[in-house]
Amino acid sequence: MSFKYFLDKVAAKAGLAESELEKLSTPDSVLKADLKINGKTYPAFRVQFNNARGPYKGGIRFHPGVSEEEVTDLAFWMTMKTSVADLPFGGAKGGVRVNPKELSAKEIEELSRAYVSAFYKNLGPEKDIPAPDIYTNPEIMAIMLDQYEKLVGKKSPAFITGKPLEKGGSLLRDIATALGGFYILEEAIRKLDFKERTAIIQGFGNAGMNIAKLLSEHGYKVVGVSDSKGGIYSSEGLNVNELIKVKEKTGSVINYPKAVKVSNEELLLMECSILIPSALSGVITKDNAQDIKAKIVLELANGPTAAEADEVLHKNKVLVVPDILANSGGVTVSYFEWVQNMKNERWTKDEVNKKLKEKMVSIFNDLWNEYQSKSYDLRTIAYIKAIEEILKAENNRKGHKLLENHKNRS
Ligand code: NAD
Repeated sequence: MSFKYFLDKVAAKAGLAESELEKLSTPDSVLKADLKINGKTYPAFRVQFNNARGPYKGGIRFHPGVSEEEVTDLAFWMTMKTSVADLPFGGAKGGVRVNPKELSAKEIEELSRAYVSAFYKNLGPEKDIPAPDIYTNPEIMAIMLDQYEKLVGKKSPAFITGKPLEKGGSLLRDIATALGGFYILEEAIRKLDFKERTAIIQGFGNAGMNIAKLLSEHGYKVVGVSDSKGGIYSSEGLNVNELIKVKEKTGSVINYPKAVKVSNEELLLMECSILIPSALSGVITKDNAQDIKAKIVLELANGPTAAEADEVLHKNKVLVVPDILANSGGVTVSYFEWVQNMKNERWTKDEVNKKLKEKMVSIFNDLWNEYQSKSYDLRTIAYIKAIEEILKAENNRKGHKLLENHKNRS
């Protein structure tokens, strides 16, 4: 599994004992079910990785590429992400192996309800809190909440985040991943005293489209974008508002008229200063990393950079802002949503925005200071910090000898 590569790499630098490495490599539970809809079977997963720091937290993805291995990787990364962002959550992830584009709206609703029915005993506001991910959205969260509330026989809005506002969702949750990434990008650019502002974005869904909008509103030039059908590029810059209309009307960015069509693979290697993978994992590989022109890679997607590619990018002085930092705005506002639900409160847009910005700037600066004093890449720094915090929590809750090494070390 690819998370193990990162963990092994970090283990020596973090001085992890064998028992600590074992603990951090092993999910608490891997839940599986076969969901049957209209005579077809869809494998479904919920991997609960670690809850030392708080209830499990992580999205649910509907995608044909979903596998136990992928969901486990993502659950590990959620554990690291909530720790880096200093949120009182652990990490989990869910997924169903399905092509939702082949399903009717009614079948998607049935699938969403079936997922909750299969796993609800292991989920809950103080146990494991799901959220949206690829090809799941606020409407699906509302269906899942409805199913959960039917099954437990009470209102429980804090069961799931990323809900529509009228179901207890938080203001700004819809753009939180992009907004958090944008605040971090601005900090990184300030630190690097970086003048260029041209961006390529792979993926044009929640994360990708919203970062495109934010960038164009703040004077950046978006020169390339893509979705599952392919990519487009124009060194003159794309009109993002027009692009959004084209995507909404025709279903794909490739129908935008004033740009050259390129493949998703080619797009990653086109001229730009900032590359923002916002779709699938493993798209930057050891084979294409060498040819990446960007100076900053902002990982809004989870796991877009394959392990071996990291070293190539670091050697080439490309600053990779790792997923567990770059896209933590989403889970941060999910946390704000959960807090509002638990306390029966509603925060204004300004309150949410202010808290998000403060959090993003502060976690970035903490890691940046470490980064300046060490020769490691930012991902390694972020992992070490996340691991330290998880081990401290493990130590506190169990007080067992696993962590004596850790105590001795620090
Ligand atoms: P989404 O479903 O809204 O959008 C996904 C986008 O990726 C779509 O534009 C789709 O066309 C595109 N895509 C699919 N297959 C592709 C391919 N082979 N090549 C290029 N593009 C392809 O999903 P999202 O919520 O924007 O999530 C995107 C990424 O961001 C995922 O890796 C997800 O885990 C990560 N992420 C999302 C959030 C969030 O709050 N939405 C939070 C953290 C991380």
